[in-house]
Amino acid sequence: KNREMKRALEAYWKGNLEPEALLETYRQVEAEAWQAQAAAGIHRVGVGDATLYDHVLDWALRFGLVAPRFRDLKGLDRYFAMARGRPGIPALELTKWFDTNYHYLVPEVDANLQPEPDFADFLDSVRRAREVLGERAVPIVLGPVTLLRLSRLETGLEEVLEGLLPLYDELLRRLQELGVPEVQMHEPALVLDDAPDLRAAYERVYEALAAVGLPLNLVVYFDDPGDTYPWLVNLPVQTLSLDFTRGRTLDLLREHGWPAEKTLAAGVVDGRSVWRIRPGEVQSLLGEFQGLVPDLRLSASCSLQFVPYEAARETVLPEPLRRVLAFAEEKLGELTLLAQSLSDEGGDSELRQIEAAWAAFRDFAPAEPEVQRRLANLTPQDFQRDLPYEARRPRQIQTPPLATTTIGSFPQTRDIRRLRARFKRGETDQATYQAGIDAWIAYTIGVQDGIGLDVLVHGEFERSDMVEYFAQKMKGFAFTEHAWVQSYGSRYVRPPIIYADVVRTGPMTVREFQVAQSFTQKPVKGMLTGPVTILNWSYPRTDISRRDIAFQIALALREEIADLETAGARVVQVDEPALREGLPFKRERWEEYLTWAVDAFRLATGGAKPETQIHTHMCYAEFGDILPAIDRMDADVISIENARSGDETLRELAEYGYRREVGPGVYDVHSPVVPPTDQVRAKLETFLRHLDPAQVWVNPDCGLKTRAWEEVIPALTNIVAAVRALRQELEEREAAPAGD
Ligand code: GLN
Ligand code: ZN
Repeated sequence: KNREMKRALEAYWKGNLEPEALLETYRQVEAEAWQAQAAAGIHRVGVGDATLYDHVLDWALRFGLVAPRFRDLKGLDRYFAMARGRPGIPALELTKWFDTNYHYLVPEVDANLQPEPDFADFLDSVRRAREVLGERAVPIVLGPVTLLRLSRLETGLEEVLEGLLPLYDELLRRLQELGVPEVQMHEPALVLDDAPDLRAAYERVYEALAAVGLPLNLVVYFDDPGDTYPWLVNLPVQTLSLDFTRGRTLDLLREHGWPAEKTLAAGVVDGRSVWRIRPGEVQSLLGEFQGLVPDLRLSASCSLQFVPYEAARETVLPEPLRRVLAFAEEKLGELTLLAQSLSDEGGDSELRQIEAAWAAFRDFAPAEPEVQRRLANLTPQDFQRDLPYEARRPRQIQTPPLATTTIGSFPQTRDIRRLRARFKRGETDQATYQAGIDAWIAYTIGVQDGIGLDVLVHGEFERSDMVEYFAQKMKGFAFTEHAWVQSYGSRYVRPPIIYADVVRTGPMTVREFQVAQSFTQKPVKGMLTGPVTILNWSYPRTDISRRDIAFQIALALREEIADLETAGARVVQVDEPALREGLPFKRERWEEYLTWAVDAFRLATGGAKPETQIHTHMCYAEFGDILPAIDRMDADVISIENARSGDETLRELAEYGYRREVGPGVYDVHSPVVPPTDQVRAKLETFLRHLDPAQVWVNPDCGLKTRAWEEVIPALTNIVAAVRALRQELEEREAAPAGD
């Protein structure tokens, strides 16, 4: 609730907290969550979702899936080495948990792994829970197919599964001995596109585990189970939990029916949204179950870890907004209300109060007529640059082959963070603050100019976060005080809430651009966060489509680009690092998403003059499968992550016939290692195997904000040195008579 685990972990890592004190904090946080659920009247309380760092790591360790490089370590040392690495021992890979902003550690399972289970911590947790909750305590176990589907496997999944099944069997028997009434088996991988291919694995697992005789609740969330539905409902488990807040779960239920002998736990309260239920909508959903489902339970659609703790604490928010927000604790109350109203035990007057809060909210945050008018009158021209790429490119800045640039941010040192914090607290006046920022901009421009980069950036020192910064400058966003959610380990974020139509109220980036451009003749990039990324990294309103919200943000950015042009910008970068992560799980829904997501980018950039060079940036290399969408963005230059990968992406781009300019990363910004000149050189040579030198830009993988100046300056110096040498050779090769 107050990021107790973050504080404890950081103190422990610094050596300021004893291991026992860390575990004590963990047990307190865990117990408070149980008590909150019990107090709210929840009948079955999940146990085992608390973690020191990551729940997938916990399960990997409990089942003994430990890669050789960690085997000499023990206890918490091993645990945190797997989570965070140690000198010479790289950590497990961190990656997104489905389509949430939570990141889990990817277990590594090698071919000759002999798993050694250790369930002690989990069984302890269940024992503690039973002391508090008695029969209401229900252990939560990550299902074997999902665990392996999300791991890095050296051999086939089926093979590893055979080794793992006896361990799951043993775990269930141990839980049975403790006397628990049922166990939740979480198998969210059932919503992924390849789930139908794993039918045999799911059947094998649940038939084997049914033999234990402990009732199982198979829990599926984040989407509908798609084509698996007809066989999924026949797996030998007593209860199936499905997510009715996403996808077409209700349609599947209507089409294929429900097996009378099974209990349905319907996820009707959205664990991914910060909004209160809309009682009318939920009650009509509940009406659908009547007659179809003899035994019904109600639940949140997924774990509540993706929403903050308590909306009632956000007293800074205007009352009409706060009253329609429901974070984890409010959601528990909603479940109880819905259950009461279903069984005629009351709750109706509270549900009417929620309706009234929504009615008041509609008056508080009415639609903005001007934005609505603009959205309604969009024409195909609005999504299109005036000239096609080939015609506009000659009018844009001229750059040498292998043009060099950076992605935007420069080191965010303690001094800069302190400067921003003091301004935010009102301890520094605006003039002093801006003078401080400008000094950093001047320094950064000087560094880039001195090193000899071709296209410069201002460094983003005024931004704490690339989404929050823009959200704070536009109407339609709200910010909380305490509403932190875990991103990974000890890292938490406070996403903005989009509660109304988005409107730009004035220039957002123009001042800093002008300051930067005033110090150099070289082009400085205007630097914006794209509409899809702002949307995907916020909590959106759910009664306005994501497409419409993205278009509203795009219109605001379009105005910003026009102002940047007026201020003299010749290059504008619109970052879309979150575009890919918004892809639906099921391929058949990709097209719909990509259409509006790319349209939003085109709406933001389509008004730029032909002379303005539009860049975009995405920090991932895997986009072979969305190349047509990337192409349709029609950006003049795109920078992508590539330092850790080979030349796969470039080969794909070349094969696709991508004509515009590309900047594959040559510097891994997540590593403190300074890339030596010859390593950069080798990278450049692989690029030129696929692309023309005029088409290639040279840049780091992503922004440099997490690096130190002492790393950044030599790294960029090496990059420019490698580029200059290669340019020279290319020129000489050109001058030499052919065939000689
Ligand atoms: N312009 C941003 C930066 O350099 C891009 C960050 C990102 O892609 N995540 O920090
Ligand atoms: Zn990036």
